[in-house]
Amino acid sequence: MGQIFNEKIVVFFSIKKCRSIMNYDKHSGRRRFLGLSAAGVGSVFLGAEGKYCTNSQRKNNREVFDCHLHCPSSQGEKWQWYKVTHTFDDFARYLEKAGVHKGIINCQRSYNALPEEFIAGNREVADFMNRNKGKFLGACVVNPLFLEEALRELEYCQKELGFVWVGELCNYMIPFDYKAKEFEEMMNHVTKLKMIIALHTEGEEMDFISLKFPEATIVFAHFGDDHEYQDIFRRIQIVASNPNFYLDT
Ligand SMILES: [Zn+2]
Repeated sequence: MGQIFNEKIVVFFSIKKCRSIMNYDKHSGRRRFLGLSAAGVGSVFLGAEGKYCTNSQRKNNREVFDCHLHCPSSQGEKWQWYKVTHTFDDFARYLEKAGVHKGIINCQRSYNALPEEFIAGNREVADFMNRNKGKFLGACVVNPLFLEEALRELEYCQKELGFVWVGELCNYMIPFDYKAKEFEEMMNHVTKLKMIIALHTEGEEMDFISLKFPEATIVFAHFGDDHEYQDIFRRIQIVASNPNFYLDT
């Protein structure tokens, strides 16, 4: 298990749900990161050698790279229990204060179900990314139930906007079933585009997805929260079973 921890996961137990100020996690070069975090903000310490980072190591030349950042929208979407950041610029300043150097961003506006809204949110992300070159990478969020628009948007975000990441997709926010045909087609497209996808899964959803899409590069969001805690070792086991799978926390 220690090996698994060292290579694929990072742990921080003060986890909050997606709707909190922001979440945390990881990703970057395969098997090259680890994490840990500071209270309230989950984040990942990207070690140059892919080694587990302690707080003291973090203070020396390690950069915090957080791959699970839900950003406020210019249209007013703010998922925060306590509203501390109202704009993307506020949010970026907050990250700076929290010691997060870089990250992967998505826009809370994209979690509205309609294509015009998820597309508009992704454009906000592109704008944030371009205004902060070298600091943030964009993530594309779509609603797979609008399949045609979702596939087109994935392709556009990858080819025209330079996004490499999809999600986090949360099927409890835009209600859809991971067993839906549209989701399968979307996953196949993501795999074909060689994009990384972050998924919020609970209970048996993770089992289903891991068996159904072994070729996809998937970040399973959250080490465990709420009732997922009881499945924590099973979640680790699934991730350990496939080099394409990761957990964030
Ligand atoms: Zn989230």
